[in-house]
Amino acid sequence: MTATEVTTPALRATGLTQHYPIRGAGGKKVVHAVDDVSLELWPGQVTAVVGESGSGKSTLARILARLVAPTAGQLWLDGAEVPLSTRRGSRGYRSTVQLILQDPFSSLNPVHTVGYHLARPLRIHRMAERSATDKAVAALLERVKLTPPSQYAGKLPHELSGGQLQRVAIARCLAVQPRVLLADEPVSMLDVSIRLGVLNLLEEICQEERLAVLYVTHDLASARYLATSIMVMYAGQVVESGPALDVVDRPAHPYTQLLLSAAADPERTGPAVLTTRGGAPPSLIDPPTGCRFHLRCPHAMAVCSTDAPPSVDVGGGQHAACWLHAESGTRAGSALPGARPPPQAS
Ligand code: SF4
Repeated sequence: MTATEVTTPALRATGLTQHYPIRGAGGKKVVHAVDDVSLELWPGQVTAVVGESGSGKSTLARILARLVAPTAGQLWLDGAEVPLSTRRGSRGYRSTVQLILQDPFSSLNPVHTVGYHLARPLRIHRMAERSATDKAVAALLERVKLTPPSQYAGKLPHELSGGQLQRVAIARCLAVQPRVLLADEPVSMLDVSIRLGVLNLLEEICQEERLAVLYVTHDLASARYLATSIMVMYAGQVVESGPALDVVDRPAHPYTQLLLSAAADPERTGPAVLTTRGGAPPSLIDPPTGCRFHLRCPHAMAVCSTDAPPSVDVGGGQHAACWLHAESGTRAGSALPGARPPPQAS
């Protein structure tokens, strides 16, 4: 099937919500880890979820991997609805949707060889005859460019570098021939010098195997490099989404602008051009009313502290949940203390 013939996303979710009850609070208090997130993952495309720690991006990946049952929401795999009431997904779902974890050092058992880690899913999911397992393991190692395979199959995890371990983890996911890869910060624990190689491998696999990839990261620059589209999360909610180049080159939401402003830029000689009004990310137990970013937003208006902003189409498939882009007259509301005038449209 060619890319143009694909009419159904490999994975589609609407209204995903994850509230964790707090022990001892009698069910009255919850942590709002993820609130009302919808997304589509398409074959042959990388979708990046970007946000700081505690934004809910990893929880979202765990929901999609069916490691946790969400509080609310719906999920479709290849157009068929997935029942979300049970905590764990079925074996079929788990082989179709694979999760790459952040830490390659702890995702592999230190007492087993690379060959064992790759042969096990092949056997459990009956992907290769017992007599053909060694050949299938070698093919997987070649697929992730650990060559010659004979040099790696007998090694223990501690004998490999972080980048090589993450390649083994990717090969283990590929063993069950998935259609969706969920990569949760797959390069954040690797040396900067080897991150690019792993990202390039992910892109190559995505294109050649027509996999739908979710790339979870706190790094907008790597998201722009790898992804087709980007979703930016803040305090459990999606605040901006759209084509990757547009979101990074023309960010519409003040939080995305802030993330970009805080990113390292070798050509910038002064301090970051945009700063917050102060404050830390809000409590997820008792999130602020209105826009959850209003306590830090440099452009906050009175309406921002009372009413949740709608998601506004700012053009070209880019959406921002911000009153600055809403058509209602509330844009003229008075600024909050410490806020600056909103930027003028160019
Ligand atoms: Fe939120 Fe208001 Fe700032 Fe927009 S302007 S990000 S709605 S606080």
